[in-house]
Amino acid sequence: MAISKIIIVGAGPSGLLLGILLTKAGIPVTLLDQSDHLDTNPRAAHYAPNSVVELRRAGVLSTVEERGYHPNGVCWRLLDGTILAGIRGDENDEIDPDAMIYYPFEKFDYWDSQFIVHPTNWYMAAKITPDGMWRVTYGDIWGLTTEEYLKRQPMRFEEILPGHPKPGEYDLKMASPYKLQQSGGMGLTGGIADISSLTDCLLAMHNNLTDDSILDKYSEIRIKKWKEIIDPTSRANFGRLWDEKCCGGD
Ligand SMILES: Cc1cc2nc3c(=O)[nH]c(=O)nc-3n(C[C@H](O)[C@H](O)[C@H](O)COP(=O)(O)OP(=O)(O)OC[C@H]3O[C@@H](n4cnc5c(N)ncnc54)[C@H](O)[C@@H]3O)c2cc1C
Repeated sequence: MAISKIIIVGAGPSGLLLGILLTKAGIPVTLLDQSDHLDTNPRAAHYAPNSVVELRRAGVLSTVEERGYHPNGVCWRLLDGTILAGIRGDENDEIDPDAMIYYPFEKFDYWDSQFIVHPTNWYMAAKITPDGMWRVTYGDIWGLTTEEYLKRQPMRFEEILPGHPKPGEYDLKMASPYKLQQSGGMGLTGGIADISSLTDCLLAMHNNLTDDSILDKYSEIRIKKWKEIIDPTSRANFGRLWDEKCCGGD
């Protein structure tokens, strides 16, 4: 039996994407959200390549590409800049404060995206806009208030960033602390992958190719994939970032 209507609870990127995909397939959708304003904290800056398939299917890829930035590679480095491992686009046919800044990382031979490996001074620096805004996510001590984390930000940047910049030497656009999840994930790429499979299940039901037992199968398989692949891979990446065995603290 054709689905007459779907109610989506949560108008974050996952809910919005599902809404677009179902609407394009002719299924009426009502989208609900508890909030009446956009969350202004920085997040979901990067999407893995497989997200592109779904953004294209939803018809929003060209807008995302127009406003976004294609990073050309990612690497893992020591604090002194030594590269441990990396993968470049042109050679292959993709509680911690988070800040958006303009700072000339290129001057220090930084790639578009990198993880700096260190037990306490680890961080991620990634270019996120064509005009040179970078996202820096770094570790800090546990248990402070938001105000205390923000107060420490200039000192932490001077300690960890290449060139040890003082506040006037970069343009800080936005900063906010957040607690890293202990369990692993793929960020919004995971949400987009979920929506991809969920859309296919709902469309199969809508077109009488299956009944709603497909939703139990969907749930079972997505949990299995998270446990067997996503969580261990993601945890291992975080573990490597502050692994003393890897860099001996230097
Ligand atoms: C600081 C930070 C940085 C991040 N960086 C990245 C990154 O670089 N790359 C990446 O891929 N991911 C990143 N993530 C994760 C990314 O933000 C999430 O994966 C993504 O937002 C998930 O989208 P979503 O639509 O599933 O959920 P959300 O974005 O959380 O949206 C859920 C929506 O549901 C609404 N809602 C919740 N409960 C109810 C309810 N009961 N009734 C009605 N409405 C409800 C909320 O108001 C919200 O609008 C980051 C997260 C944080 C916090």
